[in-house]
Amino acid sequence: MAASSSADGSATASNNSSNKDTESDTAEFCPGFKDVDAFVKRGLGGVVAATKASGLLPQAGDEFDFYRSFPGFQDFCAVQGERLLHCMSQLMQHHGCRSFMKDRSKLTGLEERFDLVIESNDVILEKVGIMLDEASGVTRSQPVMPAGYQPPRIVVSSWNRKGNDHSGETFHLLHAKNIQRPQLKFKEKVDNSNTPFVAKIFVKPNAIKPLPSCELTERPEDLDVPPALADFIHQLRTQEHMDDMFSHPYQYELEHLVMPEILRSRPDPQLYKPLAETSCTFIETLEDLVALNEKLAKTTEFAVDLEHHSYRSFLGITCLMQISTREEDFIIDTLELRSEMYILNESFTDPTIVKVFHGADSDIEWLQKDFGVYVVNMFDTHHAARSLNLGRNSLDHLLKLYCSVDSNKRYQLADWRIRPLPEEMLKYAQADTHYLLYVYDRVRADLFDAANGQSNLIQVVWSKSKDLCLKKYVKPIFTEESYMELHRKQKKSFNSQQLVAFRLLFSWRDKLAREEDESTGYVLPNHMMMKIAEELPKEPQGIIACCNPTPPLVRQQINELHQLIKQAREIPLLKVSEVLSGFILCSVCFILNCSCTITSKSNLFFFFFLSGRFLVFIYLFYLFIFWEEFHKKAFPETKPQNAAPERCIMPR
Ligand code: AMP
Ligand code: ZN
Ligand code: MN
Repeated sequence: MAASSSADGSATASNNSSNKDTESDTAEFCPGFKDVDAFVKRGLGGVVAATKASGLLPQAGDEFDFYRSFPGFQDFCAVQGERLLHCMSQLMQHHGCRSFMKDRSKLTGLEERFDLVIESNDVILEKVGIMLDEASGVTRSQPVMPAGYQPPRIVVSSWNRKGNDHSGETFHLLHAKNIQRPQLKFKEKVDNSNTPFVAKIFVKPNAIKPLPSCELTERPEDLDVPPALADFIHQLRTQEHMDDMFSHPYQYELEHLVMPEILRSRPDPQLYKPLAETSCTFIETLEDLVALNEKLAKTTEFAVDLEHHSYRSFLGITCLMQISTREEDFIIDTLELRSEMYILNESFTDPTIVKVFHGADSDIEWLQKDFGVYVVNMFDTHHAARSLNLGRNSLDHLLKLYCSVDSNKRYQLADWRIRPLPEEMLKYAQADTHYLLYVYDRVRADLFDAANGQSNLIQVVWSKSKDLCLKKYVKPIFTEESYMELHRKQKKSFNSQQLVAFRLLFSWRDKLAREEDESTGYVLPNHMMMKIAEELPKEPQGIIACCNPTPPLVRQQINELHQLIKQAREIPLLKVSEVLSGFILCSVCFILNCSCTITSKSNLFFFFFLSGRFLVFIYLFYLFIFWEEFHKKAFPETKPQNAAPERCIMPR
C-alpha cells in the first residue's frame, strides 16, 4: 500500500516539476514544494516508508503461503499488485522506457519484468546523470566536431551511477577521469578477436589427469598402416586436440572430487579477528605473491573475492583479488601481477584446501579469463544462504546477521583501476573477505542444524559450489544474428530500413569495441543505438543529436556512421509486420499444397521485394478467387474429398 501510494506521489510530482521547469522559474520549485530539498525530503520519506512496508509483508515460504490461503488476502494482493504494476508502468512510460504492462497476463513474465525494471532504472539513472552533468556545465551544447577530433571529457554512463551516495567526494572517485589504461602495461596483449576462448593454462598443479600436450601430433607416417587409415587416425587426434583445447582443464579432478571429511561435522565457529587489529598486506610484487602462495598452501581454508572493471575494456579486467586467512588479510594488485597470478593455482586447485567465496559465478569466470586460475574445492556462502532460506542472500545481509556489521556497498561499482587505491577503497575491499571465514563457519553450523545434525544440506551447497567451479568462461562471439537477440529484447517493431540500420550499427559497434578494447556500452549504449536506428537521421548532426552525451567514438567516427545510416535508407521500405503477414499467407499456401504460380520459388522471391501492402493485397485477391478450393483443402472433412489432388492456377 505504502509503496504504491508513494510511487503515485512521486510520479505526479516529477511530472509537475518538469512542466514547471519549462514554464517559468517562479518561487516554488514545484507545487507544494518550496525548493528541491523539500521535494527530495518528501520523496525520500516515501521511499523509506515503502521499503519498511515491504519489509513487513509476509516472507516467501511458510508465512506467505499461510496468508495466501485466505481469499481476502489473495484479493488484496491482486488489487495492490495491479496498482503497483500500473504505477510502475506509468513511471516507465513517463521516462520513455518500454513498459511491461502489455504482457501482464504471462505467468512466466516475472523474470522478464524484472529485467525491464532494471533496464528502466538504468535509463532513468542515466538521464539523471546527464542532467546533473548539464547542470554542472559538462556536456552543455558541445559543438559538432570534425571527425577525428576528440575533446577531453568525462564519459557518463549508468554503470558508475548506481551508488546511492551523492557526496561530492564519491562522485569524483567513481568518475576517476585520468586513469591510465591498465591494458597498456599488460605483458600479454588482450585477445578480443572473434574466436572462442582458449584456456590460459600451461602448468597444471594438483593434476590427476595431466594437461594435454600442446603440439598437434604429426600425421602418423611412422605407423605401419595404409595412408587412408593414417589420415583417419590423424583426424581423430586433431579432433581430440581441439576438444581438449576448449575443455575445462580441471574437469576430471572436479568430477572425481569428494567432499572433504571436515565438512561432514558441525563446526565450532571461530570468531574473526577485529578488522582494525588484522594485518592487511598489499601485494604488488612477484616475491610477495610467491610468499603468499606458500602461506596459503599451509592453510585448510581461505576466503577469496575479486573486484572487476568492465566499462573501459571489451572483456573486462580483474583489478583486485582479496584473500583472507584466519589470521591475515591480503589484497593483490592484479593489474600489476596479472601474468603471474597463475602461480596461485597451486593452492586454488589443491583439493585439501577449501576456498570460500560469496556468489562466485562471475569470479570463477574472471579467474579463468584473466589469469588462467581454476578452483577445486570451493564453498559458496551465497548458496548456503539460499539453502538456509534466509530470504536475502547478499553478503551485506550475512554480515549483518552473523557479524552485526553494517557493510556499505558504496564502492561496489567504483572504478577499481585507480592506483594508488584510496585508503577507503582498500578498507572496503579488505572487509569483503575479512569476515567470510567466520560466515562460512556460521552457515555450516546452521545448515547442519537445519538438517537435524546431518551433513546433507552442506553436501548440497558444496555440490552446487563444485558445479560453479566447472563453469567455463565463454567469450562473447559476434555472429550475423547477434543483433537479433538484442533487437528482440528491446521489443521495438522496426521497418526494414530501421532493422538494417540497427544491424549495421551493431556490427560497427562490436568491431570497434574489440579493436579499441572498450565495452560496447562505452562505444555506443544500447538506447542510443536504438534511437539512431529508429530515427535514421539524414545528417551527421542528427546522429549526434540522438546521443546525449555523445560517446567519444561516435563523434570520432561520425562519417562512417553517417554512411551506414545512408546505406540503410536505401533499402526498400517494408514494415516487418507486413512482410510477416505476407510470409504467413505464403506458408498457408504451402501447407495446403497449392502449387500455383504465386508460390513458385522465383515468384516468392520477387514478392518479398514488393511493397508489403501490395503483397498482402495479392494474397487476399488470390484467396478470394480460390476461396472454394482453399476451403476444401483447409477443412477437408466438411466436404467430400476429391480423389485427385487439386492444383490451383493463378490467372495470368
Ligand atoms: P563483489 O562480489 O560485491 O565484490 O563485486 C565484485 C565485482 O562485481 C565489482 O567489482 C563489480 O565490478 C561487479 N559488480 C558487483 N555488483 C554489481 C552490480 N550491481 N552491477 C554491476 N557490476 C557489479
Ligand atoms: Zn565478489
Ligand atoms: Mn568485493
